[in-house]
Amino acid sequence: MKFNGLGVSEGIATGSIFYLTTPDLTVTRIDNCDVVSQRQRFLKAVNKAKGQLRQLYERTLETDSESAEIFHVHMMMLDDPDFTEGVEQLLNQGLNAEYATRTAGDNLKNMLEGLDDDYMKARAADVCDITDRVIAILKGIDQTPLKPKGKVVVVADELYPSQTMKLNKDFVVGFVTRHGSQTSHSVILARSMGIPCIVNVQRFNDIPHSGTIAMDGTTGEILVNPSEQQLTTIGDKLLRQQQQRKQLLDYCGKAVSKCGKSMDVCANIGNPSDVRQVLENHADGVGLFRSEFIYLDRNTFPDEQKQFAAYKEVLEKMSPLPVVIRTLDIGSDKQAPYFNIGKEDNPAMGYRAIRICLDKEEIFVTQLRALLRASLYGNLNIMFPMISDIEQVYRIKRIVQRVKDQLTSENISFADVPLGVMIETPASVIISDLLAKEVDFFSIGTNDLTQYTLAADRTNEKTAHLFDSRNIAVLRMIELTAKNAHANGIKVGICGESAADTTLTQFYIDVGIDKLSVSPAAVLKVKKAVCQCN
Ligand code: PEP
Ligand code: MG
Repeated sequence: MKFNGLGVSEGIATGSIFYLTTPDLTVTRIDNCDVVSQRQRFLKAVNKAKGQLRQLYERTLETDSESAEIFHVHMMMLDDPDFTEGVEQLLNQGLNAEYATRTAGDNLKNMLEGLDDDYMKARAADVCDITDRVIAILKGIDQTPLKPKGKVVVVADELYPSQTMKLNKDFVVGFVTRHGSQTSHSVILARSMGIPCIVNVQRFNDIPHSGTIAMDGTTGEILVNPSEQQLTTIGDKLLRQQQQRKQLLDYCGKAVSKCGKSMDVCANIGNPSDVRQVLENHADGVGLFRSEFIYLDRNTFPDEQKQFAAYKEVLEKMSPLPVVIRTLDIGSDKQAPYFNIGKEDNPAMGYRAIRICLDKEEIFVTQLRALLRASLYGNLNIMFPMISDIEQVYRIKRIVQRVKDQLTSENISFADVPLGVMIETPASVIISDLLAKEVDFFSIGTNDLTQYTLAADRTNEKTAHLFDSRNIAVLRMIELTAKNAHANGIKVGICGESAADTTLTQFYIDVGIDKLSVSPAAVLKVKKAVCQCN
């Protein structure tokens, strides 16, 4: 069986199908139920949920005591009278256990969200977790994570970055999804991990839930249960690709155009484990470490020590090459339940990135402390996302200074770290002359810049034809930013996905871009393109 989709992360992969379903946890109200039997069902489900949580707690305790604690809290919440008495009251009215659980859970969640205390607000997400768990048990949905025996291709309707981060990368060799777009963050993650990915698959419903898949992330071709002959053809293709990659090694040095313009070609990462690929592909540094991804594969805020360890690992492994770590850019399609962002009508333009950090300063300060402490272990540059107003930069600089003073008073050393901003809103382009006087470098985020300039949602398949990073309006934005950066003596890079678009490499050189940061697998291809330009 053959299927076609949009290849968005290159590479050939073969593995067994791992069908990831989002369980249907909707509930229906049923009146006039037998109170005793519904109460028994509820108590049995709660007991089973506690058993699952105990197992999760014990399994996680050794490797991640902080996450283990969350499972412990969930066990206790299942006994919380605010929850159990709420359910009990509804059961006594003759309602079914599923409906009573959901309604009591929602009431408690709304109550917690309305409180002033941030800690209690964050517990609202835990209430959702425990009610979902009990309802899944009541509905007979098996939620135990599958332990694959070999390599798997994950097949899913849609993949969220938080789900992608939680998958065991030792087993996953490919992603195939019904929905998705070139610049959605799950796709970006797949690219930075070097995992082939195909989205927008036609006749998706016909893909069986078991069997084998062979996929080509370049052409978007998917073969389900391929024949021996098809497997041989795929094997040959893989060999040819490997040979082509070997030839690219000729370009592993510094990229210099024929006219002598030198370009740094760095790599984008989402995780310390991606560094291996960065080094294997001879990148000139890490041009973008999307630090929010270390917030996504967990159930609670990573503390200062956890973040410090992650940043230190990347800096040490990359040293002496430069590493640009971007502060938290959570929100929009990158959601972690414990942030409690809630549903927004326009999430891309809503509560995200630097807006959250400047609103919840304690989260920002924790990250800045971890970053500055890690600065001693390599060549660190800190970058701030989603800037749309010069006032934000003034505030950031004041907070950074306060954190430095705090560390100094605690006798903790740190290095002198360049501070840069992402240019990814039209406003930041227009004021780039002012911004350039306040910071040490710019990095243009063409994913968001394209989305906001052309008013075309980067994650929406229906606006994909409008989302074009080669559009003249976007190119003019890039040109203006580069001009203002250089007029003020600072460097400018591009770290959005279009940095790897080799049809634009000559344009980037012509307008004076100093650095391109791309997925690790694209580094050598881009270096080659630079060398072939004038
Ligand atoms: C961008 O917007 O181009 C960018 C690099 O940031 P992100 O894709 O994480 O939003
Ligand atoms: Mg962005």
